[in-house]
Amino acid sequence: MLRQLTPHVFVMKHNHDTDRPALGLIAGKTASLVVDGGNSPAHARAFLQGISALGVAAPRYLALTHWHWDHVFGAPEMGLTTLANQRTQPHLLQMAGYAWDDDALARRVAQGEEIAFCAENIKKEFGAQRAIAVQGADILFDQTLTVELGGLTCQLIHLGGEHSEDSTVVYCPQEGVLFLGDGLCQEMFHGEWSYDLADYRARIDKIKDLPCRFYVNSHWDVQDAGEFTAYYRRLIALGELAGESTDPADVLDRYRRAHGCDPDEETEGDLLSFVHGNRKRQAAKKASHQ
Ligand SMILES: [Zn+2]
Repeated sequence: MLRQLTPHVFVMKHNHDTDRPALGLIAGKTASLVVDGGNSPAHARAFLQGISALGVAAPRYLALTHWHWDHVFGAPEMGLTTLANQRTQPHLLQMAGYAWDDDALARRVAQGEEIAFCAENIKKEFGAQRAIAVQGADILFDQTLTVELGGLTCQLIHLGGEHSEDSTVVYCPQEGVLFLGDGLCQEMFHGEWSYDLADYRARIDKIKDLPCRFYVNSHWDVQDAGEFTAYYRRLIALGELAGESTDPADVLDRYRRAHGCDPDEETEGDLLSFVHGNRKRQAAKKASHQ
């Protein structure tokens, strides 16, 4: 159930059915560190069961990549010392006071505090009976935190960016594995899902020089170094093609002229994400001038 990526790093694959993210285990000689708490106690239990068969050092730490529900609702079930960015903590403490029944979810979606995509997946993962507990983390950091696991270290590095300003990546230099969480994902909480090219570039610049063999994004398949580089270069090229345009037809036309064919579904979605980002930036500019 867990894939062994390198001698000391294991990953449980993501599952889109209820938006379960990938969970990671970095196993040192004296302690192991878990990456992300999972989207429910059931998800956390499935992971803990998976690692019990590995014969590695017992998990001692849980590193949260950011505060979004699918990464933290399983955290209390893990029962570990929880490490998080200091920007993550206020969100966790706020969510600890929330109700999660249908009415409460619908109210927060209507008020723009929650998005329908997350509310739907919370309902699917938990069913009608929702005992959801959220806890604050135990150890907080600002830019980086290094954890010693016995022969291995882990670095938690603040990435930030438009998906979530608290986004943190977890890097194991000895194994050459970087857990990205949702750190490279779109902005999803204010209207159409979007990319801002400058924001994306800044995120890539923070991590691209870390020597790595494998990159683990929470909701995608694991990428090797070649796949990762090709992926972000392609996305930046699409952002450059979109330029400052706020017109989807114009951007799709630019793509056809440049490539001599229609974009595939994924490429079209990425192009439109940049268009939406341009629209949000222009709207913000207008608002700031009023
Ligand atoms: Zn997220």
